[in-house]
Amino acid sequence: MDGYSGAYIMFVLIESVACASGAVIIAEKKGYKGAALAGWCFVGLLFNLLGILIVLIVPTKAEGYIQQGKMKVCPFCKEAVLVDAILCKHCGSKLDATEAK
Ligand SMILES: [Zn+2]
Repeated sequence: MDGYSGAYIMFVLIESVACASGAVIIAEKKGYKGAALAGWCFVGLLFNLLGILIVLIVPTKAEGYIQQGKMKVCPFCKEAVLVDAILCKHCGSKLDATEAK
Protein backbone atom coordinates (compact mmCIF):
# COMPACT_ATOMS: atom_id res chain seq x y z
CA MET A 1 0.00 0.00 0.00
CA ASP A 2 1.64 3.19 -1.10
CA GLY A 3 -0.92 5.95 -1.40
CA TYR A 4 1.66 8.61 -2.13
CA SER A 5 3.13 7.02 -5.27
CA GLY A 6 -0.38 6.15 -6.44
CA ALA A 7 -1.38 9.80 -6.18
CA TYR A 8 1.85 10.80 -7.89
CA ILE A 9 1.27 8.46 -10.84
CA MET A 10 -2.26 9.83 -11.09
CA PHE A 11 -0.90 13.39 -11.12
CA VAL A 12 1.67 12.56 -13.81
CA LEU A 13 -1.03 10.91 -15.93
CA ILE A 14 -3.40 13.88 -15.59
CA GLU A 15 -0.55 16.32 -16.29
CA SER A 16 0.47 14.35 -19.40
CA VAL A 17 -3.09 14.31 -20.74
CA ALA A 18 -3.52 18.02 -19.97
CA CYS A 19 -0.24 18.87 -21.73
CA ALA A 20 -1.14 16.64 -24.68
CA SER A 21 -4.50 18.37 -25.15
CA GLY A 22 -2.82 21.76 -24.67
CA ALA A 23 -0.28 20.92 -27.35
CA VAL A 24 -3.08 19.75 -29.69
CA ILE A 25 -5.08 22.97 -29.14
CA ILE A 26 -2.02 25.14 -29.89
CA ALA A 27 -1.09 23.04 -32.92
CA GLU A 28 -4.67 23.25 -34.20
CA LYS A 29 -4.54 27.06 -33.92
CA LYS A 30 -1.31 26.95 -35.94
CA GLY A 31 -3.14 25.16 -38.74
CA TYR A 32 -2.03 21.58 -38.17
CA LYS A 33 -4.55 18.82 -38.89
CA GLY A 34 -5.03 15.05 -38.72
CA ALA A 35 -1.84 13.03 -38.40
CA ALA A 36 0.20 16.14 -37.54
CA LEU A 37 -2.15 16.82 -34.60
CA ALA A 38 -1.77 13.22 -33.40
CA GLY A 39 1.99 13.76 -33.55
CA TRP A 40 1.71 16.89 -31.40
CA CYS A 41 -0.54 14.98 -28.97
CA PHE A 42 2.26 12.41 -28.66
CA VAL A 43 4.86 15.17 -28.14
CA GLY A 44 2.70 16.60 -25.33
CA LEU A 45 2.27 13.19 -23.70
CA LEU A 46 5.99 12.47 -23.91
CA PHE A 47 7.49 15.84 -23.00
CA ASN A 48 4.62 17.44 -21.05
CA LEU A 49 5.40 21.15 -20.51
CA LEU A 50 8.47 20.90 -22.74
CA GLY A 51 6.19 19.54 -25.49
CA ILE A 52 3.96 22.61 -25.17
CA LEU A 53 7.06 24.79 -25.39
CA ILE A 54 8.13 22.97 -28.58
CA VAL A 55 4.72 23.45 -30.21
CA LEU A 56 4.80 27.14 -29.24
CA ILE A 57 8.20 27.59 -30.91
CA VAL A 58 7.59 25.78 -34.22
CA PRO A 59 6.34 27.95 -37.09
CA THR A 60 2.67 27.74 -38.06
CA LYS A 61 1.82 25.48 -40.98
CA ALA A 62 1.21 28.59 -43.10
CA GLU A 63 4.64 29.98 -42.18
CA GLY A 64 6.16 26.67 -43.27
CA TYR A 65 4.31 26.91 -46.60
CA ILE A 66 5.46 30.50 -47.09
CA GLN A 67 9.05 29.39 -46.53
CA GLN A 68 8.53 26.62 -49.09
CA GLY A 69 7.06 29.14 -51.54
CA LYS A 70 3.64 27.44 -51.62
CA MET A 71 1.89 30.38 -49.94
CA LYS A 72 2.20 34.15 -49.73
CA VAL A 73 0.92 36.77 -47.32
CA CYS A 74 -2.07 38.86 -48.41
CA PRO A 75 -0.89 42.52 -48.46
CA PHE A 76 -4.30 43.68 -47.20
CA CYS A 77 -5.13 41.41 -44.27
CA LYS A 78 -1.71 39.78 -43.75
CA GLU A 79 -3.21 36.29 -43.81
CA ALA A 80 -1.54 33.43 -45.69
CA VAL A 81 -3.07 32.50 -49.05
CA LEU A 82 -1.96 30.08 -51.79
CA VAL A 83 0.81 31.55 -53.92
CA ASP A 84 -1.25 31.46 -57.18
CA ALA A 85 -4.47 32.79 -55.60
CA ILE A 86 -6.03 35.80 -57.36
CA LEU A 87 -8.56 36.49 -54.59
CA CYS A 88 -7.77 36.49 -50.88
CA LYS A 89 -9.92 33.86 -49.16
CA HIS A 90 -9.79 35.81 -45.93
CA CYS A 91 -10.66 39.39 -46.90
CA GLY A 92 -11.75 38.95 -50.54
CA SER A 93 -9.15 41.41 -51.88
CA LYS A 94 -7.86 41.05 -55.43
CA LEU A 95 -4.33 39.70 -55.47
CA ASP A 96 -1.69 39.76 -58.14
CA ALA A 97 -1.07 36.09 -58.90
CA THR A 98 2.34 36.80 -60.39
CA GLU A 99 3.47 38.68 -57.31
CA ALA A 100 4.77 35.67 -55.41
CA LYS A 101 6.26 36.53 -52.01
ZN1 LIG B 1 -6.60 39.24 -47.42
